[in-house]
Amino acid sequence: MNKGLLSVDEALEVLLAGARPVAEVEEVATLEATGRVLARAQVSGMDVPPMDNSAMDGYAVRSADVRAPDARLKVAQRIQAGAVGRVLEPATAARIFTGAPIPPGADAIVMQEFCAADGEFVVVKKVPEKEAWIRRRASDIARGAQILPAGIRLRPQDTGLAASVGIKALPLRRRVRLGLFFTGDELVMPGDPLPPGRIYNSNRFTLNGLAQIFGCEVRDYGIVPDSLEATRAVLRRAAAECDVIVTSGGVSVGDADFVKPAVEAEGSLLLWKIAMKPGRPLAFGTVGKAAFIGLPGNPVSSFVTFLIFVRPFLLKTQGMAQVMPRAIEARADFDWSEPDARREFLRVKSNAKGGLEIYPTQDSAVLTSTAWADGLVDNPPNHAIRKGDLVRYLPFSELYG
Ligand code: AMP
Ligand code: MG
Repeated sequence: MNKGLLSVDEALEVLLAGARPVAEVEEVATLEATGRVLARAQVSGMDVPPMDNSAMDGYAVRSADVRAPDARLKVAQRIQAGAVGRVLEPATAARIFTGAPIPPGADAIVMQEFCAADGEFVVVKKVPEKEAWIRRRASDIARGAQILPAGIRLRPQDTGLAASVGIKALPLRRRVRLGLFFTGDELVMPGDPLPPGRIYNSNRFTLNGLAQIFGCEVRDYGIVPDSLEATRAVLRRAAAECDVIVTSGGVSVGDADFVKPAVEAEGSLLLWKIAMKPGRPLAFGTVGKAAFIGLPGNPVSSFVTFLIFVRPFLLKTQGMAQVMPRAIEARADFDWSEPDARREFLRVKSNAKGGLEIYPTQDSAVLTSTAWADGLVDNPPNHAIRKGDLVRYLPFSELYG
């Protein structure tokens, strides 16, 4: 452990202990609920399927009538999906279609491929097994069973499942209001001319995009000059309007770094040096009722620290039950022979052979590495990697969930 540095896990523990799920719950139409966080577990009020029904187009029969191939049965009824049949009399069959209810008395469906229609009759060429192609009532979901747990981000199949038991609205956590601002006198917005010495405010796009991916209601206060008064003013406004404030830059302790004194003047702050690369400085505090997380300004650092720290903090604030990303064990198809003493988050990409390639430059100013990559390798301190080693891989697809 490096002197004076906090480990990622120590910082995460403090951060997560300070995250409170938003209390407000709102009823939202199920059709609008995808991507939102479910506040309460959902229970089915009905059986699914609600009745015994056919899994195939074919003929419903009494299996006792078809003890040998080529049984000839009178087709006494025709049952389409949405219709209801009558009792199936012995020695008769019902023409039936997928999803249609099984007529009382029938105990097997014969696929139409194994039947030959013959006027009013059907010749059943194959002996069916009892229960064949019958979907029994409640075989998927029994009335009273839990269908969705609390604290998940609803995916399309989840809202579909809720709808399948007739739920038309769901209790969702209110969206988290996330305030963003970007410190630095050097910053210029794309579209404006770039005077000498200035750079474009790329972090605004990266962090704003991340906030949108996580389903936040984003309040973007834009560029804030490197001055105590300007930083304090935007902090006051953001604290009144947001649940969480995330900023980039100005968290070092240089002369032009005003985040620390501004947050201290308006609220309270912990300023950490974290044993991670990229990253290092990170600020965590509160301003009024809002939580504050100050990320470093380097484009790769702010991106990675957002994913490692802001992401779980946000998920917890959103009311998610599972906030830590699930890593995958993956094979490194590269050597990493000079590891840092700090925990590293290396930009990597999976190849067609099921392994990982590394971006040649891991400099925290090289944003290209993040756009090239499809995930991060979470590499322990002082840990060299040799081709073929298994590493802890965090794909962006997991981190963006
Ligand atoms: P700072 O953390 O303010 O010392 O900034 C560290 C580095 O990140 C400096 O090179 C800044 O110019 C750069 N930087 C800070 N904010 C941004 C931003 N919003 N977009 C792109 N680069 C930034
Ligand atoms: Mg700065």
